[in-house]
Amino acid sequence: MLCYIGIGSNLGDREKYIENAIEKLENIEGVEVKRVSHIHETEPVGGPKQGKYLNGAIEIETGLKPRELLAKLQDIENQLGRKRTIKNAPRTIDLDILLYGDNNIDEPDLKIPHPNMREREFVMKPLKEIYEGI
Ligand code: AMP
Repeated sequence: MLCYIGIGSNLGDREKYIENAIEKLENIEGVEVKRVSHIHETEPVGGPKQGKYLNGAIEIETGLKPRELLAKLQDIENQLGRKRTIKNAPRTIDLDILLYGDNNIDEPDLKIPHPNMREREFVMKPLKEIYEGI
């Protein structure tokens, strides 16, 4: 399945967290990283006052089911020191499933396409770069 992942960081060495997360993604069995967008600095949306984000998007081919993929992404977040505090709090790394083929999933803990992604410039800009072939 062709699938798109959103990646973001706004705590600590943001470049390094993003680099490490992509490397870990490449090492997951059943995931092939195909294309990575440019990484952009963006203003935080919502949540408490916090530093700017680095955001990007990643195209993968995967045989994992959506929930299996979500669990792997959460593993990576945990390994990279992500602490779950309040909603929209600053984070060392955030990995979201944006699109999973053309599947629609609407469950409490898994929503695909990712909610509000179409209104979010920090999601759509890197996605467009991938679609348009950077
Ligand atoms: P966040 O704080 O943005 O990382 O949100 C994490 C929570 O969002 C997790 O508990 C997930 O179960 C939930 N979630 C719902 N849909 C998605 C998705 N498409 N990708 C990643 N997390 C999701």
